[in-house]
Amino acid sequence: ARDFHVERREIVITASIGIAACPDDADNVIDLIRNADAALYHAKKSGGNVHCYYKPEMNEAAVERLMTKSKLKRSFERDELLVHYQPKYNLETGEVFGAEALVRWELPERGVILPANFIPIAEETNLIIEIGEWVLDKVCEDFRYWQRSVSSPGRVSVNLSLKQLRQRNFIQRISAIMRGYEVSPTSLELEITETTLMEDSDRTVKLLDELYALGLHLAIDDFGPGYSSLSALQQFPISTLKIDKSFVRHVSTSADDATLVGTIVQMGQNMNMDVVAEGVETEEQLNFLQSINCTYAQGLLFGDPMSSDNYLELLLAQKEGTNQHRALFA
Ligand code: C2E
Ligand code: MG
Ligand code: MG
Repeated sequence: ARDFHVERREIVITASIGIAACPDDADNVIDLIRNADAALYHAKKSGGNVHCYYKPEMNEAAVERLMTKSKLKRSFERDELLVHYQPKYNLETGEVFGAEALVRWELPERGVILPANFIPIAEETNLIIEIGEWVLDKVCEDFRYWQRSVSSPGRVSVNLSLKQLRQRNFIQRISAIMRGYEVSPTSLELEITETTLMEDSDRTVKLLDELYALGLHLAIDDFGPGYSSLSALQQFPISTLKIDKSFVRHVSTSADDATLVGTIVQMGQNMNMDVVAEGVETEEQLNFLQSINCTYAQGLLFGDPMSSDNYLELLLAQKEGTNQHRALFA
């Protein structure tokens, strides 16, 4: 547990341990190791740096995970993935300024599964790369379709996982998709979480510079809980800061959170970034965000994330001045 230094960097190592005992947990080596491994997985999932004893439920969870993984692999051929859009509103004008693309998985026997229940599993394998690419393709296809009816469908943001970003030919692939649908890179924004950004920041800066040079907008997602240093933040070509919903949740009831969000908004503006507040659920939160001149907001206050067709309807309603959410901004 004692930290040590390599080339003046502080290194901290932790150990996670999974324990299975013979003969209670298994009477042969293969099962014993498999069960210890299930316990180890559990230990890592609980945050690591702990030990866990094997329990039969752990194997059930592991079997469930494996099944999910194999079903997810087939989800493409079966056309089970879909993208929903969550509009972003300009807090000053009440206009829809764009949307965030959010992937969903619709399984016939289970209904719609949210990303929290399958993205982590996809991230354990290269499946996340395929899913991410499918989402980008779908978003460009939808964008192209919207453009037939509305001249500017706004800027659409797509979530990116670290594995996707690290893919060797990622830049070529994303360029090819955009070119294929004739979607301008300036119409898209890539969202990268604060923790992803900080993971290997030197390498990431280079990649992001290349994406930025293409004309893509870049956003830092779920900003706040990761406590990034300002100097680290400044190296990235980021134009949008998205405040994590855990901070937005209490702005109208907790003075501390209100101060924190106010400070983040100000900091973003000083760095010439657009600031988006995520997870806006109440009018009180909306009013507070307006009072501190936050630029954009998204959240359930404006309804659930919607299908591509419904987003187009919303854009058309806006064009005709009949967007029902306008009243919230009056
Ligand atoms: P995120 O990028 O921070 O997306 C915002 C999440 O907050 C979405 O959850 C959205 O439905 C939810 N949300 C929006 N408004 C509210 C609100 O007012 N209150 C609350 N409590 N929640 C709200 P969702 O769709 O379940 O997605 C969860 C996460 O999964 C996303 O977080 C994103 O990190 C990831 N994700 C979604 N789509 C993709 C994708 O295509 N690729 C990758 N790599 N990750 C994705
Ligand atoms: Mg996001
Ligand atoms: Mg977010």
